Amino acid sequence: MDECLFCKIIEGVIPSKKVYEDENVYAFCDINPVAPVHVLIVPKKHIPGTNDISREDDGLLGNMFEAARKIAKDTGVSEDGYRIVFNCGENGGQSVPHLHMHLIGGKKLGWG
Ligand code: AMP
Ligand code: ZN
Repeated sequence: MDECLFCKIIEGVIPSKKVYEDENVYAFCDINPVAPVHVLIVPKKHIPGTNDISREDDGLLGNMFEAARKIAKDTGVSEDGYRIVFNCGENGGQSVPHLHMHLIGGKKLGWG
């Protein structure tokens, strides 16, 4: 995906503040954090969004949640709690069409 921002970040063409990486997943700090901890966890495979996930990706999603648990522990938010968000499409507020999980924590979060 030549024009995908997150594919370029994964490839290292665009710099990012890496917090975690394994064979299938890359995670980095959000450039515009909404909380003290705001990490984006992305699959290395280009999947546009949640509408495009298939059962073939079950393992990959498990991998993303495993990464989230590790990052939550490493950043110290595991015990106090955090939020995991997938935005989808225009109404969901998705601005980058490469599947990503927001891991947000470090303060008490409001809702709505
Ligand atoms: P979403 O709005 O759910 O699609 O999330 C996209 C997120 O990517 C936003 O929270 C942006 O702040 C973040 N973002 C955009 N460009 C970059 C970048 N170059 N490095 C890190 N985060 C970015
Ligand atoms: Zn991509």
